[in-house]
Amino acid sequence: MICISINAKMNTIRNEGNTIMKKFMEEFKKFIARGNVMDMAVGVIIGGAFTAIVNSLVNDVMMPILSIITGGLDFSSLCIVLGEGEGAATLNYGAFIAAIINFLLIALVIFWMIKAINTFTKKKEEKPAPVTTKDCPYCKSKIALEATRCPQCTSQLEK
Ligand SMILES: [Zn+2]
Repeated sequence: MICISINAKMNTIRNEGNTIMKKFMEEFKKFIARGNVMDMAVGVIIGGAFTAIVNSLVNDVMMPILSIITGGLDFSSLCIVLGEGEGAATLNYGAFIAAIINFLLIALVIFWMIKAINTFTKKKEEKPAPVTTKDCPYCKSKIALEATRCPQCTSQLEK
């Protein structure tokens, strides 16, 4: 008696489990098939590649130029030694300054890039064609803007 009732319950549990699993898999499929998951993946990968370009531009191009301007001064090595001896702690304010300069350079590069992209996309936009036609209020056909009489229905026009 007990065995039968457990078996019956197990079947119910199994069936419920299958339905839940099916529902879960369907939802998962929907999630993967959604466009923005792939868009996000592309965004992350492109972002990674883009980071390499920005870093190279900052470290390989702008930093050497900056070092000429500052007379070869390397900020990152500047520090204050706290205490005495070999194991004394150092306050590396130079590294902090270098990080700030790095941030400003990256922000500048991004700003330039966005400006360049904006001008590039603006050029592509087509100017809307100037309005040379109007709709006849009587027959609704397109006629010349200056027309005083409709060529389609011969109606006298107000203006
Ligand atoms: Zn007309």
